Amino acid sequence: MAATLTRKREAARGASLAVMDMISETHPRYPLVFTPLDLGFTTLRNRILMGSMHTGLEDIEGGFERMAAYFAARARGGVGLIITGGIAPNVEGGGGAKLSTPAEAEQHRIVTDAVHAADRHVKICLQILHAGPLAGTPDCVAPSAVRSRIGRYTPNALDDAGIEKQLSDFANCAALARSAGYDGVEIIGSAGYLLSTFLVEKTNQRDDQWGGSFENRMRFPVEVIRRVREAVGPDFILIFRIPAMDMLEGGMSGEEVIQLAKAVEAAGANIISTHFTWHESLVPTIATMVPRAAFAEVTGRIRRHVGVPMITSNRINMPDVAEAVLAAGHADLVSMARPMLADPDLVAKAGDGREDEINTCIGCNQACLDHTFTGRLTSCLVNPKACHESLIVAQPAASPKNLAVVGAGPAGLAFAVEAAQRGHKVTIYEAGDAIGGQFNLARLVPGKEEFSETLRYFRTMIGKLGITLHLNTRVDADQLAAAGHDQVIVATGIKPRVPDLPGIDHPKAVSYIDAILGRREIGRRVAIMGAGGIGFDVATLITHAGPSASLDIPTFCKEWGVDFANHPRGGVTGVTPEVQAADREVVILQRRDGAPGRTLGRTTGWTHRLSLVRRGVAMMGGVTYLKIDDEGLHTLVNGTPRLFEVDTVIVCAGQEPERSLYDALVQRGVPALLIGGANEAAELDAKRAIAEATELALAA
Ligand code: FAD
Ligand code: NAP
Ligand code: SF4
Repeated sequence: MAATLTRKREAARGASLAVMDMISETHPRYPLVFTPLDLGFTTLRNRILMGSMHTGLEDIEGGFERMAAYFAARARGGVGLIITGGIAPNVEGGGGAKLSTPAEAEQHRIVTDAVHAADRHVKICLQILHAGPLAGTPDCVAPSAVRSRIGRYTPNALDDAGIEKQLSDFANCAALARSAGYDGVEIIGSAGYLLSTFLVEKTNQRDDQWGGSFENRMRFPVEVIRRVREAVGPDFILIFRIPAMDMLEGGMSGEEVIQLAKAVEAAGANIISTHFTWHESLVPTIATMVPRAAFAEVTGRIRRHVGVPMITSNRINMPDVAEAVLAAGHADLVSMARPMLADPDLVAKAGDGREDEINTCIGCNQACLDHTFTGRLTSCLVNPKACHESLIVAQPAASPKNLAVVGAGPAGLAFAVEAAQRGHKVTIYEAGDAIGGQFNLARLVPGKEEFSETLRYFRTMIGKLGITLHLNTRVDADQLAAAGHDQVIVATGIKPRVPDLPGIDHPKAVSYIDAILGRREIGRRVAIMGAGGIGFDVATLITHAGPSASLDIPTFCKEWGVDFANHPRGGVTGVTPEVQAADREVVILQRRDGAPGRTLGRTTGWTHRLSLVRRGVAMMGGVTYLKIDDEGLHTLVNGTPRLFEVDTVIVCAGQEPERSLYDALVQRGVPALLIGGANEAAELDAKRAIAEATELALAA
């Protein structure tokens, strides 16, 4: 009935046959997500788009072929619109890939053809990214010679000729995108890149027609849109990404954002996308500690003032979140970027009612942004095939085997699922009463609740693939030898390292496992021995009080000093963030010199450090541990004796591989393979555990 009504409404509006073709039935669970969007000259088949992400593929040999496979997989997976990673319109706009010549446009053909061949209803837009002062080249340009806090060079202030050149380069780039078969372009006007530096006074100190009043400051971005529209004609998608909230002091006010959005629409954009943050901001906007869809209401407020469709984004990782955002009237389209790395078939699975099979993005940044910012190719912790689609190809097993997997941590689970998908018969033995291994500890840390989604995914796949799962089953070599498996995959993980230290068995000493599971009482004064990821997570857990900020938007706002509702300048209150903390004195210690936390993720480490500092947690390097006794923890700090008078010492001193089962199997001559922490515990994280397990399962 609803589908008929939609059809009638669309027919009355003179919708094209293509639109009518797409409105088959109203989707029972996600009716808004699966409503096509008619732009007049073209139609998007649903409301989910794959947001722009830099992958590094643009910059390597054979990268366009790999990009074609990567985007085609997402097109087959049901997404409505794809935005490519950012491409500069000229040399000064970025150190990497650019599109300024017909020869460069030709390279993109393989990408646009692959996407349209994968599904003719899918649209693909090129993102034009002029990085301005963040371009990483001494030739970089900006409205004024103001160096960004995170920029490598002071930019060259543009003169009139320079401004004219940039405008015509944008227009040229867009025209070339059209010639390369793209359905449109997205121009990024945010993040501290060129266009946004025109918009705020701290980076635009000009007193000509391009600076001064807000009307003058927005003249350049608006003129870019006008020139691009002129170059591409009316029947080409033009998305403009506005800085909806800069997340830094001196950013744009709420009124200015609305004024900009109206001007962007008037200049010829047919979709407005909202972006939150400049890269130099000190507010986390996409890490796992950010609540789902936290920023959507900001888009919603702007949306009331414009007529064109609006896109919202950030931490929208499941279809029900997207549907809720659309239902609340916050946006017309929802951008999912990292979730498309994690699961290329996300939209199709939602469409088919298989949402429990979605491999959810957990917001860790470990294989995507952390890679991007350290010059490595993007991939995904939960899906190591991302950006490697043409290299990692699963084939049905030539001769299906009877495989035993011992240990249901991330390594064992990833191996089991991949092997079973290839046709092997898989049996998992897990000593604990649930699957997940250490992820069951990780997900208890406030801000890491998303890790439960990975376990839900694996639980579903175990059921759907007919994998036999034995919980509460600690197997030994004799049992496995008797079971007659063709091969045993030993994924028994790790055991916590117990430092060789007098008093390590004192009642004050507690292992991180006991601390996280609440199996031992933790005192008011605590020393954490070890400053790796687990040391920081334990500090977060034991200093936490009140609701988890990642599950509660008002708490998140208070903890990070942002105000979505009133939109002060830049979105930030300027007031010292209020952090509710447990009544505990905590110090994190490490042996190596320097500030603890250097080994944390490139793009998220600072958020963990800052949030603990705000809770009053002290951090110290250069520590030699001497003993633990009734007085506390005796140490030398940079050679000077120091007693930490604490009630509890939580030991987070790294891990050793748990290989006893493997050694016993080898002794008995049972064919066995070691994976994950059981293989190599040093610096093992879930990214490596899952990638290694997937690779071995593809070869099994
Ligand atoms: P494990 O997860 O250790 O799994 C091994 C499994 O084998 C266990 O379930 C165990 O019960 C089972 N087992 C052992 N012996 C037997 C036997 N004889 N018979 C049957 N079963 C057996 N990594 C990240 O990448 N990002 C993070 O943010 C992150 N946060 C973390 C936070 C915490 C608090 C912790 C503790 C870890 C975190 N990690 C994180 C690390 C990550 O969880 C591990 O790297 C990953 O779990 C290792 O996977 P694995 O499968 O090798 O081993
Ligand atoms: P880790 O990162 O290797 O840190 C171990 C800590 O223990 C270090 O601070 C180390 O520093 C100290 N240490 C090592 N040997 C010691 C000894 N004999 N005595 C005292 N201290 C010792 O390991 P982890 O914290 O256990 O984490 C395990 C894995 O999980 C890591 O790979 C980590 O990346 C991953 N993880 C990631 C996250 C994340 O947010 N991305 C979170 C949690 C865990 P010093 O030697 O200088 O003292
Ligand atoms: Fe999401 Fe982590 Fe994968 Fe990045 S690496 S896409 S944040 S799950």
